[in-house]
Amino acid sequence: MNHLDGNALAGAFAETLGFDITAATGRCAGCRRVFELANTRSFVTAMGKVMRCRHCDSVLAVIVSNRQETLVNLSGLSYLTMPRP
Ligand SMILES: [Zn+2]
Repeated sequence: MNHLDGNALAGAFAETLGFDITAATGRCAGCRRVFELANTRSFVTAMGKVMRCRHCDSVLAVIVSNRQETLVNLSGLSYLTMPRP
């Protein structure tokens, strides 16, 4: 499956969370590397959107929507740091 970079999910995060987290720096819970979320691999399918670590391929974030709600799972990230507005 072809992948995009993390910026491909910028709109989905902004729509769901109210801000774009791809400008943030995060730590992978799998390999513990720290990187900008724009520098990840993203997969967009009809079932949902997945962000994976470019280094160890762990799932960092998942966004899945149905008619009623959107689920956002960020459990693959130990933490996020974002620039203050
Ligand atoms: Zn990793």
